[in-house]
Amino acid sequence: MTRTEPTSARVAIVTGGARGIGLAIARWFLARGQRVALLDIDGETLDRAVAALAQPGQVLGLHCDVGQPQQVEAAARAVMQRFGRVDALVNNAGVAVFKPVLDTSFEEWRHVMATNLDGAFLCTQVFAPLMVHGGAVVNIASISGLRASTLRIAYGTSKAALLHMTRQHAVELGNVGIRVNAVCPGPVETEMARQVHSPAIRADYHDAIPQGRYGTPEEIANAVGFLCSEEASYVNGQFLAVDGGFDAAGVGLP
Ligand code: NAD
Repeated sequence: MTRTEPTSARVAIVTGGARGIGLAIARWFLARGQRVALLDIDGETLDRAVAALAQPGQVLGLHCDVGQPQQVEAAARAVMQRFGRVDALVNNAGVAVFKPVLDTSFEEWRHVMATNLDGAFLCTQVFAPLMVHGGAVVNIASISGLRASTLRIAYGTSKAALLHMTRQHAVELGNVGIRVNAVCPGPVETEMARQVHSPAIRADYHDAIPQGRYGTPEEIANAVGFLCSEEASYVNGQFLAVDGGFDAAGVGLP
C-alpha cells in the first residue's frame, strides 16, 4: 500500500517509552515531525520524559501496564481521542531477569512473559485495527532471542517467542497493509543493562562483539525508524540484528 499523507500527519505508539531505547525511539519520530504516544508503567519517569521532550502538542504520555488488557484498551481510546489515528506501534516495553534455570521462580518467569510477550500480543491486537491507513509494527526483541546462553531462560525464551509472534503477525496482517518486523539489539547502555549486566557479562559481550562495544539507544532507534518508514515498504516479517556483528560472528556467550 502506498502512503500518500505527509509523514507529519502520522502517529507512533512507543511502549516502554519513558527511558532508554524507547525514549530514543520517541525522539526519532519527533525529530521527523511525527506525533508520539508513550505508554509506560512507571508514571514518574514517564512524566519526566514528557516534560523533557518539551513538545506538548506532539507527545502524549499514558500510564499503562502493557500486560493488562483493560489498560491497553484505555490507552488506545486516549490516543484516538487526542490524535485520531495510529500509524506505527513499537512494542519496546520489556523487563529482564537474568538467573540460572533452577533459580528462576515461576513468578519471575510470569513477570517476564507478561511484559515481553503478553504486552506485545495485547498492544498489537488493540492498536493494529486502528491502523486504517496502513501501518508498521516493530517488536524490540534481542540477540538473546536468537542465541541461547546461560542466565536467560525467561528473558531469552520471551524474546524468541516474540520473534515468532513477529512472523505470525506479518503473515496475518500483511494483506491489510500492516508490516510487522523485529529489531534484535545487542547490549545497549541503559538502565536495564546497568541492572542485569554483571562485570563478567560485560566482559563476555566485549569479547564476542566484532565492533567491541555496546550500542547506543540512538543506534537502535535508527533501525526502528527505518522499519517504520516508507523506505522499508516491502520489508515484512524480518529480524534485524543491530548488534555490532555479534550474531554474524557466531561466537557463543557462556
Ligand atoms: P529500560 O529498563 O531502560 O526501559 C524499559 C522501559 O519499559 C521502562 O521505562 C519501563 O518502565 C517500561 N516497562 C517495563 N514494564 C512495563 C510494562 N509492563 N508496561 C509498560 N511499560 C513497561 O530498558 P531498555 O534497555 O531501554 O529496553 C528496551 C527494550 O529493549 C526491552 O524490550 C529490552 O528487552 C530490549 N533490549 C534491551 C537491551 C539492552 O542491552 N539494554 C538489549 C536487547 C534488547
